[in-house]
Amino acid sequence: GYAIEVSGLTKTYGAHTAVEDVSFAVRPGVITGFLGPNGAGKSTTMRMMVGLTPPSAGWCTVLGLGYRRLPNPGRHVGVLLDASAQHPGRTGREALTLAATVMGVDLDRVDEILDLVALTPAEARRRTGTYSLGMRQRLGVGQALLGDPRVLILDEPANGLDPAGIHWMRGLLRGFADDGGSVLLSSHLLREVEVIADELVVIGRGRIVAQGAKQELLASG
Ligand code: ADP
Ligand code: ADP
Repeated sequence: GYAIEVSGLTKTYGAHTAVEDVSFAVRPGVITGFLGPNGAGKSTTMRMMVGLTPPSAGWCTVLGLGYRRLPNPGRHVGVLLDASAQHPGRTGREALTLAATVMGVDLDRVDEILDLVALTPAEARRRTGTYSLGMRQRLGVGQALLGDPRVLILDEPANGLDPAGIHWMRGLLRGFADDGGSVLLSSHLLREVEVIADELVVIGRGRIVAQGAKQELLASG
């Protein structure tokens, strides 16, 4: 089955249609880039996927269920919606420890994750309010991975990363996908998804304008 399935998803705010009849699927083992300019409807789509915004029409499932029907969802689906939303007064380690406690994840996993996202012990002791955007992104991706999920839903995770950081993230997500995980990551920058993703879903003004394998889409312009 699909890891993520979205069908006819629509969201209207008053007279404004933010997302209109969006359908796509994400397969296991694949990194799918969700590409579109700012305001295209990426965040709204992702918020509907994880049950934070009710759709006006259509549906989406993660691992075959509505997100809110998943038991202990963090153990199945890692989510990063806004890396800037980290509590600024908490240290990186405290943020991970709190999330691990909520999910019932063994606290040994916190050090594994800090290693994985290349935050040093000294950095992990600093309050996230002092972090660069790139550090917050790495912490946020680490937090999403904490529950050892099978699916990642990441909104603009490469925003604030330099080219080396983008390649680093590709390696991290590639390893996750090679182990059978599925990734949906949004970006407004072609160069980010070009480096990281295998497949693309392109959205503009709330509608899907193209989808398919990255090579084919880029070759056809
Ligand atoms: P993206 O993530 O691609 O930048 P968004 O999903 O954030 O796009 O926004 C899509 C459109 O929906 C934009 O026009 C945005 O202003 C609008 N929008 C998003 N959230 C709301 C909201 N809560 N109320 C009204 N309009 C919204
Ligand atoms: P992002 O850049 O992460 O896509 P924004 O910064 O545009 O999101 O929006 C932040 C918050 O404001 C979100 O909760 C979004 O739903 C809401 N929002 C976005 N656009 C509008 C809008 N035009 N009217 C009301 N709320 C909005």
